[in-house]
Amino acid sequence: MDIRNFIYQGSPARIVFGAGALERVAEVVQALDCRHALVLSTPQQAEDAGRLSGALGALSAGVFAKAAMHTPVEITEQALEAMQAAGADCTVAFGGGSTVGLGKAIAYRLDTPQIAIPTTYAGSEATPILGQTQNGEKTTVRDGSILPEAIIYDPELSLGLPYQMTVTSGLNAMAHAAEALYAKDRNPISTLMAVEGLRAFTGALPVLKGAPRDMTARGDALYGAWLCGTVLGSVGMSLHHKLCHVLGGSFDLPHAETHAIILPHAIGFNEAVASEELRPIAEMLGHGSAGAGLYDFARKLGAPVALRDIGMAEADLPRAAMIATRNAYWNPREIDRDQILALLGAAWRGERPQ
Ligand code: NAD
Repeated sequence: MDIRNFIYQGSPARIVFGAGALERVAEVVQALDCRHALVLSTPQQAEDAGRLSGALGALSAGVFAKAAMHTPVEITEQALEAMQAAGADCTVAFGGGSTVGLGKAIAYRLDTPQIAIPTTYAGSEATPILGQTQNGEKTTVRDGSILPEAIIYDPELSLGLPYQMTVTSGLNAMAHAAEALYAKDRNPISTLMAVEGLRAFTGALPVLKGAPRDMTARGDALYGAWLCGTVLGSVGMSLHHKLCHVLGGSFDLPHAETHAIILPHAIGFNEAVASEELRPIAEMLGHGSAGAGLYDFARKLGAPVALRDIGMAEADLPRAAMIATRNAYWNPREIDRDQILALLGAAWRGERPQ
């Protein structure tokens, strides 16, 4: 693609970034002209959400702490009732992609403003995309109302993110940037952001392995999460995201771990036709190839590298390859079902791509 032939659309979201930025949440609620915010979290983060609600004082409409993976519509319906009962006029989602997903699901239905306060690196807060599940089926919608109006990135909130989640979530974020490098609709800004985001993570994650509470590295990782999430929201993703969507949606594999395992294989596969676009990854990881470089990087960090270790049955691989190839979608390299099955087999066994 001619890099000088592009369309660029900047995200309208307001970004408040910095250690201690959480303290500015009341100011951000008021800047959106809101008076009564429902604080959202998972049950696991209910205590922190309660503290946040307390800090909001009269601006809080209470806490709804039932956010769950894959945004089940039944939970969204309960949250809509809570919004109405409390007279809430906006939401503050405190947590990872699951909690941000609930905020988006509410905004999609009520068009109420959202503030996202991410505590993982998944990147959902920076995209106008909502994935939700009903009767066991996951569907995805894209709409302007889904993009949060404001994001508060406070690295202090990720100090307690367990190391294993830090690594898999970081690799999840890096996957957005890696696929953005060869996206059909990429532009010079998305490429700059993707490379900078990858650089932030390749620098921060090895530091966090030895020192998970290192504030500078936490700040760098969250900065990377913002950049990688922003490119996820602005350019199209390909094979890697398709495979992870299938493995998560149809085989219930855990989100971040699945991304971490598939990334070297999907990138290695596409590298056959996009080595020039992927060269920044190979270079920053000090390898001749981006796929092998990502595999060695993940392994060194102690990330899972085999689908068989996260609950995938070998017998299900052909069905996964079938689902992942039955609908056409754009990918830099042509997709063939046998090749995808071979890729999944290598990822299942945890082999190093060439
Ligand atoms: P998650 O939000 O499900 O979080 C996993 C667990 O970790 C939860 O129990 C959560 O409460 C806990 N947790 C989060 N932050 C923590 C912290 N700092 N310390 C301790 N515990 C913490 O996981 P995720 O990987 O952030 O998000 C995955 C979900 O997000 C998936 O459903 C995925 O589809 C969605 N997602 C959507 C988009 C999009 O653009 N629509 C993008 C990325 C991810």
